[in-house]
Amino acid sequence: MASALTDKLSRLAKELRGQARITEANVQDMLREVRMALLEADVALPVVRDFIARVKEKALGQEVLGSLSPGQALVGIVHKEIAATMGEGISDINLQAQPPAVILMAGLQGAGKTTTTAKLAKLLIEKRKKKVLTVSGDVYRPAAIEQLKTVTQQAGAEWFPSSPDQKPLDIARAALDFARKQYFDVLLVDTAGRLAIDEALMNEIKELHRELKPVETLFVVDAMQGQDAVNTAKAFKEALPLTGIVLTKMDGDSRGGAALSVRQVTGAPIKFAGVSEKIDGLEVFDAERHAGRILGMGDIVALVEQVTAGVDMEAAQKLAAKVKSGEGFDLNDFLAQIQQMKQMGGLSSLMDKLPSHLTAKAGQVDMDKAERDIRRKEGIICSMTALERRKPELIKATRKRRIAAGAGVQVQEVNRLLNEFEQMQTMMKKMKGGGLMKMMKRMGG
Ligand code: GDP
Repeated sequence: MASALTDKLSRLAKELRGQARITEANVQDMLREVRMALLEADVALPVVRDFIARVKEKALGQEVLGSLSPGQALVGIVHKEIAATMGEGISDINLQAQPPAVILMAGLQGAGKTTTTAKLAKLLIEKRKKKVLTVSGDVYRPAAIEQLKTVTQQAGAEWFPSSPDQKPLDIARAALDFARKQYFDVLLVDTAGRLAIDEALMNEIKELHRELKPVETLFVVDAMQGQDAVNTAKAFKEALPLTGIVLTKMDGDSRGGAALSVRQVTGAPIKFAGVSEKIDGLEVFDAERHAGRILGMGDIVALVEQVTAGVDMEAAQKLAAKVKSGEGFDLNDFLAQIQQMKQMGGLSSLMDKLPSHLTAKAGQVDMDKAERDIRRKEGIICSMTALERRKPELIKATRKRRIAAGAGVQVQEVNRLLNEFEQMQTMMKKMKGGGLMKMMKRMGG
């Protein structure tokens, strides 16, 4: 959806070029596209309506600055609004309580509460070195209690027994008492879910909340629920003071719109995302990164990770140091850069990861041709001697002819490469210490 939205917007933005202001008339079509794209991403209808209204209010009558078209300006406003709705970067789990810190898990049946309870236990054990106890208050489904036992063992945490003939409140009290006496840091309380919201269920979990005074009350919701997620979220928000949300099944083909809906309706931060059925399939949720994804900013962080994973690190660091200082950057480094680009899976794979508004222009570039061009450059540098690569200023007419013949290209192409190299050298001196992010910002700005 992400790139679909940005693609549509950049097309409309072009149509609106030359108009100086965002007006009711020129913004209509664009807002329709934004609305469609958000709905396609499974953002709930009422949330979309509110969102569009806010964007429209902020956009109308706004002067369009300098070289921006009204379309580009609107994309900027949409971006800011999504980011504002999603909230700040990362909200850590809160364990600031007299031990044990109690974490209450709430949500519908099948949302992934039990699985998430175990995943969270594992995370707290491994990352925070906590002693963790789990307990199930689901007295309606004996299988649920057994399931928690199994996954708790997988997580390496301890499980407190409970059975269907007990009352959830009694189970909670007993577990809390045990956790205190045995010096557990954290008590994770899994609760009964129902297939739909019902009064009795809500009362039961409210009572549990009153008794346990949890430091975190996490609402677990299935990202695939799409439009329905909003109604469920509303009901739980009214019943409980939610402190955070876990969005499960983000590995499915949902488009992440539920994040925006649930966040808007509950006002609570999304703390974790479930990304697989496995016990280690829980990720700390990064709101800004996700907002970017919804918008088609691409996954810059993933890109940077790939850049560092696919490349010979030592060589990359040496190169980075040279780039930083701008000193001693020669044709060997230029070649190394070209080769690193190849290691990363070539230009087109790199382009896929870049924000689509940055690559909108590149969309028209023929990728195959660009990659052929890279291979030719590699050929030219490989035809040079070691000395020539270190001291490109030595390369005069005779040497150029020899290099061109060796690489099977025209002399002009050797000239072009040398020019490009010189430009890059100059740019690097100017950029000093900037690096990839700075370069991207420049491309984006
Ligand atoms: P509960 O009824 O809320 O306790 O839900 P469960 O923990 O039993 O999960 C319901 C189903 O969803 C199970 O089959 C889980 O394996 C699956 N599940 C839970 N979280 C995730 C997730 O993040 N990704 C995927 N793919 N499946 C999940």
